[in-house]
Formats: sequence, C-alpha cells, structure tokens
Amino acid sequence: MAVQVYFIGAGPGDPKLITSKGKEVIERADVVIYADSLIPSEICRFARVDAEIHPSASMSLEQITAIIEDAVKQDKTVARVQSGDPSIYGAIHEQMVALDEKGIGYEVIPGVSSLFAAAAALKTELTIPELSQTVIITRLEGRTPVPSLESLKSLAKHQSTMAIFLSASLIEKVVAALLEGGYPAETPAAAVYKASWEDEMVVRAPLKRLTEQMKELGIKKQALILVGNFLSPEAKGRRSKLYHQEFKHEFR
Ligand code: SAH
Repeated sequence: MAVQVYFIGAGPGDPKLITSKGKEVIERADVVIYADSLIPSEICRFARVDAEIHPSASMSLEQITAIIEDAVKQDKTVARVQSGDPSIYGAIHEQMVALDEKGIGYEVIPGVSSLFAAAAALKTELTIPELSQTVIITRLEGRTPVPSLESLKSLAKHQSTMAIFLSASLIEKVVAALLEGGYPAETPAAAVYKASWEDEMVVRAPLKRLTEQMKELGIKKQALILVGNFLSPEAKGRRSKLYHQEFKHEFR
C-alpha cells in the first residue's frame, strides 16, 4: 500500500528553507497538520485550497493521531509538518509509536534544523579544526526532565560546541550551569532568535554577559543558545586538512 502519512521537517522558518520533497507532499496533501507555534503560516499556502488544515499547537497526541487515523481511513494523504528537523525535540517518536500501534505506515522527510539556520546566521562552522570537533545538542530541564547523566553542568566539562534548545527563558540557569561545569566566563556565546525569519536577531557576548544582552533585546523564546570557542576570534586562524595542499582527500 502506498504511504499516506508524511512527517515533514518544515525548516527553521523561512518558507524557502523547506526541502522540495517536503513542499511537494504539502502541495498534494488532503490533510495538513502543522505546528503553528513555530512554523510560519506561509508554509500552509503551499497546500491545495481545498486541503483540510489543522494547527497542532494546542492539540494532544491523541487528537493528532485521531485526525491522521480518520484521514487514512478515507484514503487521504496527510502531511504532518513540524518545525526544523523532526528528529530534534520534535516529539515525533511518540507519534510514530502511536501510528505503529494502529498499523499505519508513514515516511519521514527531514528538514533544516534551527541549529543550522543559527549557524548560518552567525556565519560560522560549528566544528572548527582543533578548537571543537564535537557538537552537543541539549536543553536545560524545565517541565520536561533531562536524564541526570546529561546535566548541563556535566556536559559543560567538555567545552565543546554546545547548542542549547528550549531554554532561552531560563538563561540565568543555563549560564550558571555552564560556568559551574567548567566553561570560562569569557567563553564566546550567542543567542539566535527566530533564525531565518524576517525578525531574526543575533546576540554575541561572552558567556558572563549573555543574559544581560538577551534581556536587553527581550529574547525569551524561539531562540537557540550557542556556546563555545568555535565563536572566538581565534577560530579565524584554523584550517582544516580537507583543503590543504599536502592532503590529498578522497572526500573533497
Ligand atoms: N525540531 C526543531 C526544534 C523544536 S524544539 C529544530 O530542529 O529546529 C523548539 C526549540 O527550537 C525552541 O525552543 C528554540 O530553542 C529552537 N528553535 C526553533 N526554531 C527556531 C528558530 N527559527 N530560531 C532559533 N531557535 C529556534
């Protein structure tokens, strides 16, 4: 049987940053369920005028699953559109489990995570040779707990590139944990608010000043916090071996 349900990463916000594959599915879908809190409504304009559109921000998992099940029974195609890439804090896991239980097949179409839109806004590489070759994607515990072995404080000891999602409103706690964990107070940091949207804002500051700078601009949500020496001026002098003359590389 042909797949009728597609989880689609809508990208970070700019409607041009959805993949053409994701857009094509939205264009032909009978039912579009989209995360209205983080996805601009422009994405819905790709949908057919007669498509059923459901904003999902206030829906429960059961409500979402019920809409999908109903549509599938009527032989309709469903586009479940999520922000960024659905594999990162997308709650896609529980939706897939619910569909598995009902024997409903689906496909996942990846998207550009806000992490990559934030790196683009900062015009930086997250993995600078010799400074950082590791990116930690994490969040501070809020209403949703984080396993204790993954506390921000313990992750901070690596002093790698760190991308902190879902935590801008708790910035004081984030900075306290990072400092306690071992990042020096001067470590460069940034916050990118609404990466790729028209009202995108970028703040760069040493860790110890990040909170005040974010407060000044009123950044509390829809922002990603990035920390690490990949943002330091020192990063400018680093070169990878990939484009080095003496380094013949088969993956170039
Ligand atoms: N799956 C999404 C993340 C969803 S969790 C992705 O891959 O981007 C929601 C969190 O993502 C927000 O709290 C914020 O930290 C971050 N976020 C989502 N869109 C963003 C954007 N355009 N700019 C900055 N941060 C964003």
